[in-house]
Amino acid sequence: MKLILLGPPGAGKGTQAKMLTERFGIPQIATGDILRGAVQAGTALGLQAKSFMDAGALVPDEVVIGIVRERLQQQDCVAGFILDGFPRTVAQADALQVSLESLGRRLDRVISLTVDADELVERLTGRRTCRSCGRGYHVTFDPPRSAQQCDACGGDLYQRDDDREETIRKRLTVYDQQTSPLIAYYRAAGSLTELDGMQPIPVVQEQVLVALQAG
Ligand code: AMP
Repeated sequence: MKLILLGPPGAGKGTQAKMLTERFGIPQIATGDILRGAVQAGTALGLQAKSFMDAGALVPDEVVIGIVRERLQQQDCVAGFILDGFPRTVAQADALQVSLESLGRRLDRVISLTVDADELVERLTGRRTCRSCGRGYHVTFDPPRSAQQCDACGGDLYQRDDDREETIRKRLTVYDQQTSPLIAYYRAAGSLTELDGMQPIPVVQEQVLVALQAG
């Protein structure tokens, strides 16, 4: 299964991707996670990406396109993959198409999750993540037992630098301007399913699974 999860920051793409990864045994390819890992490791890629990420802007297309092109060629993507946070521009979507064609593959489905802006801000400001296992929490909606520690593995919880209100507003504007045109792009390609991401997580998951069966 080859799938794109599309939607603004905080729509639940990562949450749904993790569930699908477990269920189908295919990798989640989250460009944001790859870039944060590079920043953390202090690599050339990280140095290049950091200022864009801190500003809530997009990292240049050629950088992320290169990352995904290489990632898709790895062995664990043969059975399928879930793209989470890529593509984010029409140029990225076009490049993805070219990469997939050269690998003799095509997308099965693009699932777009829709959530109101106020709800997105609330979700993102309260978001916390485990540094060790990547599990996500929300300080109000899904709090950890202890504020600093992951329930699952005991790792440290952190708040992303770009999950502060001012940067969040900027990221949402960037989504509207640069990424939301992809909804029409994939609708025209006939591969889009739009889901209401305001519903409870298990309901969204059920609808994702139905969409994948139909796809
Ligand atoms: P995310 O974790 O998906 O919210 O991504 C965090 C940040 O990483 C974004 O605000 C961008 O600065 C950068 N980023 C992640 N994916 C992409 C992408 N496909 N294109 C450009 N920048 C990206």
